[in-house]
Amino acid sequence: MFEDKETERTQLSELGEFGLIEHLTKNFNLSQASTVKGVGDDAAVLDLRHGQTILTTDMLVEGVHFNLAYTPLKHLGYKAVMVNLSDVYAMNGIATQITVSLAVSNRFLLEALEELYEGIALACKKYGVDLVGGDTTSSTKGMIICISAVGTAKESEVVYRSGAKPNDLLVVSGDLGAAYLGLQVLERENEVFKVNPRNQPDLTPYSYLVERQLKPEARKDIVELLKALELHPTAMIDISDGLSSEILHICHNSDVGCNLYEDKIPLDPTVIATCEEFNLDSTPVALSRGEDYELLFTIDQKEFLKIKGNPNLTVLGHITDKKEGVHLISRNSSKIPLTAQGWNAFTESD
Ligand code: ADP
Ligand code: MG
Repeated sequence: MFEDKETERTQLSELGEFGLIEHLTKNFNLSQASTVKGVGDDAAVLDLRHGQTILTTDMLVEGVHFNLAYTPLKHLGYKAVMVNLSDVYAMNGIATQITVSLAVSNRFLLEALEELYEGIALACKKYGVDLVGGDTTSSTKGMIICISAVGTAKESEVVYRSGAKPNDLLVVSGDLGAAYLGLQVLERENEVFKVNPRNQPDLTPYSYLVERQLKPEARKDIVELLKALELHPTAMIDISDGLSSEILHICHNSDVGCNLYEDKIPLDPTVIATCEEFNLDSTPVALSRGEDYELLFTIDQKEFLKIKGNPNLTVLGHITDKKEGVHLISRNSSKIPLTAQGWNAFTESD
């Protein structure tokens, strides 16, 4: 990286805890009518009068969930918010507020946290959520970010994992597998970089994959689309751990089985090309690798016309009786039991 100006370096200790919180949060505007009091008192005050309240939390730990060698802090802040909003949308709710709790070691400078908060601010603005609080503390090593999100939905609108019925259609938004491949590309380039730091990678051919990994978008638009179509899914979940693991969650919670058709799995052309380059089969990539943050849901067959031809949605298969089990129907029509890791290649059944 070429720097044409002196980079500022401000130790966190120069501001103190209160100065730091004030500095990081001063540019956040509140936009939600339900936010009565945001940052600055002992606790936030919300007035969530309409419907039910959805509450979710996620923790991201440096070295476990993210690697700062190739994750810009602005992207990390943005993604940490998306991970939470995605869970609210998976309940068919609309997110309204978040809190952000941070533990950082003294290795981090103020400028690094400013970047992190830039990403958080961008996410808040784009998705219309208010930052209403958090906590700031030190860690002996690395960074931990814990975000909580609040959302609302009418009681009749909330969608659980447990409502899928036999013959329902299984539907997914967007396409699958790109976030995992993005991570593979970044890991590969990071290894090259460690050996030769002067070797600047050209990630242009992989920009879609890298963006899906570093800057995912939660599917608020799908929740809005479902509302506009007056389509109430019978069950819904977000894809944070891979398609097969999420299908198994729906089947387990709904007490049903499922047939998933391999040839229906939506793949971006970059995913197909990169799988060829890396000598990977695209099906296990889409099935067993996560972080796509798409919505997976089931609908009554009667509703099919509402989604037919919609470029954002793909019908992947259908729900069956529990006794039929959970299977992938491969391109050559063999029936393979799904496992959380994708499938077990050694237990093909007929
Ligand atoms: P307390 O000691 O009562 O927990 P804090 O000093 O931790 O208070 O927090 C003061 C205010 O700043 C509270 O409104 C809190 O929610 C908010 N806050 C603290 N840390 C953060 C953070 N990292 N991001 C956003 N808001 C924060
Ligand atoms: Mg506190």
